[in-house]
Amino acid sequence: MAAVPLVRIRALNPAPVNASGDYVLYWMIAFRRARWNFSLDRAVEWCRELSKPMVIFEALRCDYPWASERLHRFVLEGMAANARQFAAAGAFYFPYVEPSIGAAKGLFAAVAKRACVVITDDFPAFFLPSMMDAAAKKCSVRLESVDSNGLLPLRAAAHAFPTAFAFRRFLQKELPKHLQEMPARDALARTQLPRLKTLPSKIFRRWPAASAGLLNASGDALTALPIDHSLVPASARGGSIAAERIWRSFLKRRLARYLEDRNEPELEGASGLSPYLHFGHMSSHQIFAEVARSEKWTEARLALRATGSRSGWWRMSEAAEAFLDQLVTWRELGFNFCAHRGDADRYESLPEWARATLEKHAGDRRKWRYTLEEFKAGQTHDPLWNAAQTQLVRDGRLHNYLRMLWGKKILEWSKTPREALRVMIELNNRYALDGRDPSSYSGIFWCLGRYDRPWGPEREIFGTVRYMSSENTARKHRVREYLKEYAPSANRPIS
Ligand SMILES: Cc1cc2nc3c(=O)[nH]c(=O)nc-3n(C[C@H](O)[C@H](O)[C@H](O)COP(=O)(O)OP(=O)(O)OC[C@H]3O[C@@H](n4cnc5c(N)ncnc54)[C@H](O)[C@@H]3O)c2cc1C
Repeated sequence: MAAVPLVRIRALNPAPVNASGDYVLYWMIAFRRARWNFSLDRAVEWCRELSKPMVIFEALRCDYPWASERLHRFVLEGMAANARQFAAAGAFYFPYVEPSIGAAKGLFAAVAKRACVVITDDFPAFFLPSMMDAAAKKCSVRLESVDSNGLLPLRAAAHAFPTAFAFRRFLQKELPKHLQEMPARDALARTQLPRLKTLPSKIFRRWPAASAGLLNASGDALTALPIDHSLVPASARGGSIAAERIWRSFLKRRLARYLEDRNEPELEGASGLSPYLHFGHMSSHQIFAEVARSEKWTEARLALRATGSRSGWWRMSEAAEAFLDQLVTWRELGFNFCAHRGDADRYESLPEWARATLEKHAGDRRKWRYTLEEFKAGQTHDPLWNAAQTQLVRDGRLHNYLRMLWGKKILEWSKTPREALRVMIELNNRYALDGRDPSSYSGIFWCLGRYDRPWGPEREIFGTVRYMSSENTARKHRVREYLKEYAPSANRPIS
């Protein structure tokens, strides 16, 4: 196993390694998987260095913003899959599900106290950066966060990029240095690390490990938790085993038609992987490695010039290049923004031209105006918008093309652009399985002008921010079956 690149490792506190501790602690908070994970690789490195066993600690609190049965069950299914995989590898896995608000207080400090060193995941969005900062203050041994987010290490770039084009050009120059640096496919295979039998009983007495019933979210297991029960689980199953199944099917059957099909709402032309990427159940390194293998691709094929162009750099098939442009350029552009800006979720982070034009038109008359509750319930005058909202509420996902339209219309039908931003964040992050991610903020802010340029003619409300209309969408794309499937009459009550 190659060493984890130093550019992916950050010490979060100045505390030393305690070589006389009992174990190396991997606190899994974002890359919730047993494979293709630099954090796990780093923990294995420390175990070898110190000849200590590893404890993998994966917790789920109940007070995170938008906590619901939908999100909880997806994460729990991931934990159940991890429990199986870590048991098969003989690793000590401690899954914990907080039963009531505040119950987990003190748990991290208690588990970290006996550790030699603590490794955690470096995820640049949602409440995770502030949770890591707080943990660093409590941890009396070295706490390292490791970046296993994407192909480009977050800290290989020195600043946030304003456009996909500029970021792509940077990637084309920088990425070749990092493509050989892959996390281990299976870091625990053949490691023969020392084994740990158990943790001190006083830890388990106060914070019992989650039962198999809870991890499988069976029976009433979720009912007792203080989370939003009105938002029921979506049909998609969480976890790395489900992710693997979806990925294999896409790679084998649909990738070849990605370019033609991905923008068609009625075709399942895209991968459907975003919830798995978001919760870390699947790694973009694995996806990239397997696309490259299926294309019989080697690095020698890379174009030498970094032009920033969307196609022709990888020198793979057009479909594979289009897919990698989303997975690498667009996905990592959002990670880049969040890692380098503390204000990625704030209105003020919009480019100056976008703010100026939106402010100029903030007072324009709105022909239609809806409240958050009306948006939530899909009660607008526009059947296509309502259908998109229904899909989001019912299935926890939204087709990318319709998602752009969905956001643009929220801008058009809200009292002000700031109010539109609030509504988009609330709906996207509450209902979408892949919400609360750097890509959530890229997509939402793109609707308001981030990563874009001014477009003429200047219009009411939008100014020069790019406009989209349902009529055009319905003309350019087939939506009849989509409307039938998600027409509001087919709605299930939300709450
Ligand atoms: C208003 C709005 C909100 C959005 N909110 C989210 C969100 O909460 N979470 C989220 O992951 N994406 C979000 N996106 C981006 C995009 O819609 C989804 O990533 C994509 O639809 C996921 O479907 P897929 O996995 O089938 O994508 P594929 O087409 O199969 O793409 C593969 C992967 O590439 C990444 N990707 C694809 N398109 C984009 C994009 N435009 N921007 C960034 N990354 C991309 C995703 O990780 C995706 O899983 C949003 C876009 C808009 C316009």
